[in-house]
Formats: sequence, C-alpha cells, structure tokens
Amino acid sequence: MVGCGPDFMQRMLANGVKRIDGILFTHEHADHIMGMDDIRTFFFRKGDIPIYAHKRVIKSLKTKFDYIFATKDRYPGAPAVRVNRVENDVAINLGGIEVIPINVLHNRLQVFGFRFDKFAYLTDVKTIEDKEVEKLIGVDVLVVNALRKQKHHSHFNITEAIEFIAKVKPKQAYLTHISPSLGFHAEVQAELPENVYLAYDNLEIDL
Ligand SMILES: [Zn+2]
Ligand SMILES: [Zn+2]
Repeated sequence: MVGCGPDFMQRMLANGVKRIDGILFTHEHADHIMGMDDIRTFFFRKGDIPIYAHKRVIKSLKTKFDYIFATKDRYPGAPAVRVNRVENDVAINLGGIEVIPINVLHNRLQVFGFRFDKFAYLTDVKTIEDKEVEKLIGVDVLVVNALRKQKHHSHFNITEAIEFIAKVKPKQAYLTHISPSLGFHAEVQAELPENVYLAYDNLEIDL
C-alpha cells in the first residue's frame, strides 16, 4: 500500500482488502498518513505491519502515533509496525516484488514516489530531476499528481503533469491528488491528451 490517508478504512472496505503486506510512505503530510490508527484491524490478523519510509518521515510518524511505536507499557490494542528505512537509489524488496524509490521535490520537501516493475505511483510532485525521470522509463502505467489548472507552489498543475508524462512516455497515465477546483470529470477528461486519464476513488487498473 502506498500511503495511509484519512480515508484508508473506507478504501479497504470498499475494495474488500483483507491483507496488507507493507506500507510505503511518500511523505509525512496529514493527507498521506492520518489513516494509520486503523491499521490495527490488519495487525490483529497478521501481526506487525512492515512500513517503509525516509528516516525523516519515520521520525514524524513516531511523534504523531507514539503509541504505535512505543516499546514499553504498550496499550494492548495498539497496532505495531516493523520499521524499514528507505534511501534513494536503494531498491526495496516487498514480498518478492522489487520497489524502486523515486526522489522528487514537493516545493522544498523531499518526497518518494515508487516504481513497481511496469507501474509507478508518484504524488505531491512539483519538481523532479532528470536522473529520477530516467528511473521511470519503460513503465506501462504511471500515476501522478495534478492538483488543478492554476499553478501551485508545491504541486504539479495539469500542464506540468502532462509535460512530465510526455517525458516518461508511459502507455497510460492517470492523474490523482485532484482539487475540487479542477472541474467536472467529463469536461476535464475531454481536454486531456490521448492515454491520459483522470483517476477516481476505487479505480482499478489491469496490469
Ligand atoms: Zn504533501
Ligand atoms: Zn498530498
């Protein structure tokens, strides 16, 4: 799972997800971590949940969810995690699947995107170096953030996302992390280039 946002449990229930092999965190902003308390349901079934994050993000999670990381006087119902540090240029092995971290910037904040073979998921990108773009070449499906039409200091707008997609050249791209100010789905979709689609909640993609 990538990130653990506030609607985590809604998404799990809507999609009948019964197991989590690990959580890859992109960064520590609230909209990407605030579902973490609800991982207890999955912890009760399978034990400690492996989490993967930059050391800065792990520090932030420890502050916000101290009871999850506590080593003594633990609350008996609290979930527990197994912490794995993610470093750029070091691939992760998650249940036999190689995951490649992609380093990007969200204004000045470092954020990780992740490539899983022919699929890559990047969110909260504003800038990305060419050497990181190279790590994405050859993906079939790319998911990337596109907040709105107007420029934003820390997110790609639609134009910037489309320029980035043109560099990566995936077979299909999906735009996510969309602001309500972007417009109505059908109208915005009609303006997008071929093979670029607006993502939506509970979207399923065949790989
Ligand atoms: Zn963010
Ligand atoms: Zn965000």
